[in-house]
Amino acid sequence: MYLYQQIRHFSNLKKKQLSELTNRVNKIVKNSSTVQKCIADFPVIEKYLNERFPNVDISDVKIYLAESYCMKKYGFKDCGGCYIDYLKCILAKTRIVTMSGAAKGRFEKLMKRHAAKLDVEDVIVHEMIHAVSAAANRGGAKRFNFEEEEFVYTNSVDFYKEKGMQEQEIVDSVFLPFCVYDIVQNRSELLKMCTKQRIIASKDFMNTHASILVPLIVEKSRKMGLHMIELHKKYGCRLLVVEPPTNDTSKRFSSIDFDC
Ligand SMILES: [Zn+2]
Repeated sequence: MYLYQQIRHFSNLKKKQLSELTNRVNKIVKNSSTVQKCIADFPVIEKYLNERFPNVDISDVKIYLAESYCMKKYGFKDCGGCYIDYLKCILAKTRIVTMSGAAKGRFEKLMKRHAAKLDVEDVIVHEMIHAVSAAANRGGAKRFNFEEEEFVYTNSVDFYKEKGMQEQEIVDSVFLPFCVYDIVQNRSELLKMCTKQRIIASKDFMNTHASILVPLIVEKSRKMGLHMIELHKKYGCRLLVVEPPTNDTSKRFSSIDFDC
């Protein structure tokens, strides 16, 4: 019913994309190596989410743990997991290797040193908070991917604190790839960095000047992660009543139906 009502209002192109996505997900779900779980199989996460979001019911979200090769085969190569709202399911790899594969250039090679160290539980808590966000109908805030990810990351901080991690440690091992991605995508931010370092933003400048740029980007990302936590403490917690202030840079992200 829910699915039908939603899809009825979509354009033909969107319907086609959704049907193609559904097919790929079904292939993973039906693969003999895929294991179906639910939130009750992850009691620490279940307890955390129930306490943090007592009014949101996510018990119907199905979790599928799939082998990396299977996820790769059906188009989920670069993510540890994803939440697909209209199917109410999470796909997660059984083993998470971030920045796997050979580095494409010097920039990636140096960036690999800062790759996140994630396990399946990290992916499940992240995707489950996406499910919370969807169940709570945070439609407005979800228009921009950055805001959705910020909601998820900041709402997972206490989960890691309960494990005994400090904020900087959480930023370094969980937030960093997201913050790095945001900074690298932000052309004006990169150009500012180049100007300060007297680097000319020419073709392949990221690889050419990787040894200068990577430490600067990582440093900026670490600050950004801590800033996100500070904003969250100040302006919003759990399901936001007051949204953190947004800035224009976030608007470059377009809305998508599922993400990592
Ligand atoms: Zn995400």
